[in-house]
Amino acid sequence: MKARSVSVLGGETRDKEGKNVTFREMGKMFGIDFQKKYGKSLFFLGWHEIRETLYEALPPGVVDFGRRYASYDDQGADGVIVNFKDGSSVRARMLIGADGYFSKVRRQMLDDGPPEFTGNIMWRARFPLRQEFSTDRTRWWKENLDSFGGRFAVIFPIDKDHVTFVANAPVEHLHRHNLPFQADTSRSVQEDVYEKDNLQRCLTVFHDFDERLLEVLRDTDPSTVTEHGLYERPVAKMPDEGWCRGNVTIIGDAAHAGLPNGQGLNLAIEDGAVLGWHVREGGVTPEALQKFNAERGPRVREVLTKGLDNNTGPEKIRVIYETTFRPVQGDRPGVQEHSAAVPEPGTAGQQVYAGVPFRQWLSPNGQWRVRPIREEEVGAVARLQAQAFHESSSFAPLDSLLYYVFQGEVLSGLQQKMKYSHKDGFCCLVASAASDPDKIVGVVEVSLQGEKEELNCLAEKGFAEESYAYVACMAVDRNARRGGAASALLGAAERMAGKWQQNWVLLHVYGDNFPGIRLYHRNGYADLHIDPEWWGFMGRRRRVLMAKSASVFSVGRSVQSISTNVLKMMQQQSWQEQQEQGQL
Ligand SMILES: Cc1cc2nc3c(=O)[nH]c(=O)nc-3n(C[C@H](O)[C@H](O)[C@H](O)COP(=O)(O)OP(=O)(O)OC[C@H]3O[C@@H](n4cnc5c(N)ncnc54)[C@H](O)[C@@H]3O)c2cc1C
Repeated sequence: MKARSVSVLGGETRDKEGKNVTFREMGKMFGIDFQKKYGKSLFFLGWHEIRETLYEALPPGVVDFGRRYASYDDQGADGVIVNFKDGSSVRARMLIGADGYFSKVRRQMLDDGPPEFTGNIMWRARFPLRQEFSTDRTRWWKENLDSFGGRFAVIFPIDKDHVTFVANAPVEHLHRHNLPFQADTSRSVQEDVYEKDNLQRCLTVFHDFDERLLEVLRDTDPSTVTEHGLYERPVAKMPDEGWCRGNVTIIGDAAHAGLPNGQGLNLAIEDGAVLGWHVREGGVTPEALQKFNAERGPRVREVLTKGLDNNTGPEKIRVIYETTFRPVQGDRPGVQEHSAAVPEPGTAGQQVYAGVPFRQWLSPNGQWRVRPIREEEVGAVARLQAQAFHESSSFAPLDSLLYYVFQGEVLSGLQQKMKYSHKDGFCCLVASAASDPDKIVGVVEVSLQGEKEELNCLAEKGFAEESYAYVACMAVDRNARRGGAASALLGAAERMAGKWQQNWVLLHVYGDNFPGIRLYHRNGYADLHIDPEWWGFMGRRRRVLMAKSASVFSVGRSVQSISTNVLKMMQQQSWQEQQEQGQL
């Protein structure tokens, strides 16, 4: 996580018009230098990146997506039956409800009502880093400079390549503009009922804020903006008997949802670490759960109640920073070792694809999954690509015939690429909705390349490279467009580029494909080269070569440096093939 994170120098606060800017250094408060005193510093990392890093570290088969928990039946010594909404159920020795602040597990276990609506609404979205926003600071706009009351917005980095904005407003501001909002705590997940209008609603509420902030909001892809109410479970109402009963416990926000003051996820991760330690010590038993609960209650209470005011602030910092955790695996604190029972990530049946361990990639909003194509899916994928790339003939009677010929060509092209491309230098990735994982709605191909022309374009900009990752043949089903599937595919292709240790991802887009160009710009791609004008005179469509620095993805789990050798082998291979075919 640390390798993917960013550290910031500090936070810049300004009033809502963008004036009266003040700067506060990060990691220093109440005269305490966190690094000097505790040897620890703050770092920023997005929720999606954290989730992805944890997911990648797990052995294969541990996470099962696409099932919605419904209820449980604790059968004492026989364990617990967990029932899912699709009618299936499993018997387990223990149930840990980490299902967020509308927890259904909690509802059944404690029946103590929903969390309380704080009266505030939040909008959030992440987007690629823009030139004007360095990742070295957080940027705040506040209606009330002295407090977190009223409307405020913040833009902060979440990794080396992305920033996010969070905008908060009391619900009255929506009502003032006749915009409805109904806090609905009967759900098991966050409400996001205005989905399509989220961005517009946010812009309406923040209409009188600094134009610089509004410009960022207007420029954000509306489909990525979420809106939800802010809820909490006040510490005063924490259940005296703790958060476990028999074989069942709740952790994270399901147990103790505080206000978003930077500790919620930290406490959830701590819960996991402490629970892991007790299970290691006491086995998968109700006693281990009881001990976990007894230990966590006081700490959670302390972290959530000690505020960042002058009286309790220094104490809170001490409470957060001085704590150390017992190791879940291995014997040394802070060192994670894999026990024999837990396979190393990347082994034991995990799919090694295009030279790197790859299971599936989740889009930041959790809506899309991207994974390598399966052999039996080649036909469906070729159909998708053919639909996207087929250009209708002006002679209608021939059109369907030409379409089928074209589809056949696409199919055989894809089969050839999958069969003959070097296995560590080509991959075809497919996207599906998380709710319908078997239906492919998008595809992209990414390969390791070293074309002179493209390398020269990079060199002209001062980047001397020997190779790059090339994205091609991206297609998204008509019905799934404008929902973020294309960005999810690009994100996964960039991950692949990072795993191949490439610094650049390159792609071509036709100069008259404006939606495509917008999509790539929004995803952080910059124009590198445009085909010369005379191409147009010769009846050829001019293309734009676009590039994105993928260095941020290279810091993931380290893989053997394969790319240069693979590229050489690929070049040699294709040279040999051409020679055999008498073309050279
Ligand atoms: C605006 C904002 C900013 C924040 N900033 C910070 C910060 O800077 N630092 C920090 O530490 N914390 C922060 N937090 C808090 C942090 O996001 C939460 O504390 C943290 O996500 C809690 O993790 P969790 O795993 O317990 O719950 P969640 O992250 O809510 O995860 C619960 C999961 O359970 C799933 N689920 C729910 N019901 C079911 C069901 N029936 N079946 C199957 N799955 C289900 C959900 O889909 C979800 O994936 C912030 C929160 C907000 C709202």
